[in-house]
Amino acid sequence: MAKKNSRTGWEIPATEAVRASADTRVADLDTNVTPGFEGDKELGERLLEERGADLSALQEKLFANGRSSEEHRSVLLVLQGMDTAGKGGMVRHVIGHVDPQGVDHASFGVPTEEEKRHHYLWRIRKALPRKGQIGVFDRSHYEDVLVVRVHDLVPPAEWEPRYDEINQFEKDLVESGTSIVKVAMFVSLDEQKARLAERLERPDKYWKYNPGDVTERGYWPQYQQAYQAMLDRTSTEYAPWHVVPCDRKWYSRLAVTELLIDALERLDLGWPPADFDIETEKRRLAES
Ligand code: ADP
Repeated sequence: MAKKNSRTGWEIPATEAVRASADTRVADLDTNVTPGFEGDKELGERLLEERGADLSALQEKLFANGRSSEEHRSVLLVLQGMDTAGKGGMVRHVIGHVDPQGVDHASFGVPTEEEKRHHYLWRIRKALPRKGQIGVFDRSHYEDVLVVRVHDLVPPAEWEPRYDEINQFEKDLVESGTSIVKVAMFVSLDEQKARLAERLERPDKYWKYNPGDVTERGYWPQYQQAYQAMLDRTSTEYAPWHVVPCDRKWYSRLAVTELLIDALERLDLGWPPADFDIETEKRRLAES
């Protein structure tokens, strides 16, 4: 067995442990497991805080470079998952570690009338992260090959070419300096039921309950098929999918923290140099 990395607690790096492969079978996924990580919830939650601080330090460097460099560098986290998978909690507990100034957050619901008049990538392009920012998509352009496919919102001849189109779109994005971290979040049908039941028991959760979510449960196999096609056709070298089991929230949050840290470390950013003369400024300050 691989040796545990004492700093991160992982036996296998999260980037490898949850990376989608040609063998990934959505219908057979065990969503109550913790790939790559052998620790328990207590360790997971402690590490989430520690690694959240590391993430914050890396984000500050990205932000600093965005302010001072001409080069475009940004990171885009794409969160895609069924209702109750925990997308909102992911934003609060993972992205919540970083300075909100450095985050460009966007969520994508049913398209508005205006959005419907445009190409499906129109609203996505408008929401892309600015230079130096971490972008977060709560749902994304993938809805246009998921809910759209499951409910025949457009004919197959229209959604079918979208897989290739999305790949090209993401390739262009990566080439223009945006690192894409794609996370497919999966809960089991039973876990989803339990989470929806909790929403019906607690007045502070009623606002999260949407009767349509129960209707969508009836389409579970169709959604599994659509998610499978998404993974098969849009997991690329430049923007691979990560398949994150989400029955244990602490694990999914820790895993995504690690994925973001990895993406930021790969940018290999330094602190931007001073664009003023340090000695002169020290003197001026002392004399002021
Ligand atoms: P959430 O349920 O994540 O809190 P909303 O209720 O605002 O957020 O919107 C989510 C709903 O919008 C989901 O049912 C999703 O399938 C739907 N949706 C998102 N994008 C599209 C799209 N392109 N076409 C149709 N429905 C979409």
